[in-house]
Amino acid sequence: MVIRMAKAVVVGAGIGGLAAALALRSKGWGVEVYERAARLEKIGAGLAIAPNALRSLDVLGLGDRVRELAAFGEASAGVCRHDGTWLVKTDQEAAKARWGDVAVVLPRAGLLDTLADGLEPGTLRLGTEVTSVDSDRGTVSTAAGETEADLIVAADGVRSPIRTGLFPDHPGPVYAGETAWRLLLNDVPMRVGGIEYWGRAGVIATMPLAGDALYMYAAALAPAGERSDDERKVLLDKFGDWAHPLPELLASVEPESVLRNDVYHIATRLPAFHKGKVAILGDAAHAMTPHLGQGACQAIEDAVVLAHEVTHGDGLAGYTRARLPRTMKIVKDSHSTMKLALMRNRLAIAARDTAIRAMTRIAPRAGLNRFDPVFSWKPPASD
Ligand SMILES: Cc1cc2nc3c(=O)[nH]c(=O)nc-3n(C[C@H](O)[C@H](O)[C@H](O)COP(=O)(O)OP(=O)(O)OC[C@H]3O[C@@H](n4cnc5c(N)ncnc54)[C@H](O)[C@@H]3O)c2cc1C
Repeated sequence: MVIRMAKAVVVGAGIGGLAAALALRSKGWGVEVYERAARLEKIGAGLAIAPNALRSLDVLGLGDRVRELAAFGEASAGVCRHDGTWLVKTDQEAAKARWGDVAVVLPRAGLLDTLADGLEPGTLRLGTEVTSVDSDRGTVSTAAGETEADLIVAADGVRSPIRTGLFPDHPGPVYAGETAWRLLLNDVPMRVGGIEYWGRAGVIATMPLAGDALYMYAAALAPAGERSDDERKVLLDKFGDWAHPLPELLASVEPESVLRNDVYHIATRLPAFHKGKVAILGDAAHAMTPHLGQGACQAIEDAVVLAHEVTHGDGLAGYTRARLPRTMKIVKDSHSTMKLALMRNRLAIAARDTAIRAMTRIAPRAGLNRFDPVFSWKPPASD
């Protein structure tokens, strides 16, 4: 007798899709990943991977590889005012003591390569666009024809046509009101901490990478679609008089290397993260603003929980139960953090900064409390 291996088709080879493919394969599923782009999308500069996602990557056998790709400086980290005054200060030791691990920052391309290298040859089908999905029959259509699967994973990103097809009454992603810039600097001649600076209607951060490289991101309130021919100049106009070394670092950036994206999030929860044979995962299910650094981390969590539920747990209903409340709480908290960080009113900013400083004087680690439920998460026990 031939026992057929359960088959999954994953739509989308972003961080979520690749992690799902690895997690399902590790549970004995046959997996194919269909990605419409001709090569893996490695744009996005850097990425923070928090302890909760590192634990999930450990389940996939990739945690240590990812830790190796990251910088572990002793430089201080935390949140400052735009003038460089500390609001919340922390360090690697405090993070490790609290969450058992640190948040690492690495080039996005390094994470994508690490995930893709873990796939078995032939799994990843680049240049393969999925044109439709039948959730009841479990079929996926591409230009090459129709494929049947026991499980279809919609990891097709924030604009997910599969999500729209399954839940046509859901409003889909909405503009969060902010735009974000990302950039990578190589050969940075000075020592820089992992610091997020909060000022009037703007945030900018320096995140050291391995070697002398540096990842910077910034965000500001702006109308959707606003663009400039010179985004470096936009950054210098907004942040050029903030604390040292921000002006010097921004001045050294190649203008064409600045990546800008308007931020959309899924503000209204979906009825479920599954329908028929389809599971929705990553940004397709719960795109969020980047202020807790959790979008990709939650996609990686989704992947290990999905593989666990469809193999040993309660199937796709168990997946929705485990993932929907947690991720939507993080979507909401990320948006609240965005509103706190990007205040416009000077009096409100002064009150916010005074309150944060008073709180950290009384309880120096209190600023870290809000990360506890996010970072302390553990993957389902392996069998
Ligand atoms: C400024 C900024 C900073 C961020 N920083 C962090 C951070 O520090 N830490 C963190 O955890 N997260 C961060 N995020 C969030 C993170 O980038 C996303 O949550 C994550 O990349 C989502 O991955 P995904 O696989 O779900 O979706 P995507 O990366 O969007 O992948 C979807 C894939 O599906 C493919 N696709 C779409 N339609 C089809 C189709 N029909 N057929 C085949 N393929 C298809 C696309 O080509 C794409 O490759 C940040 C986001 C922003 C905007």
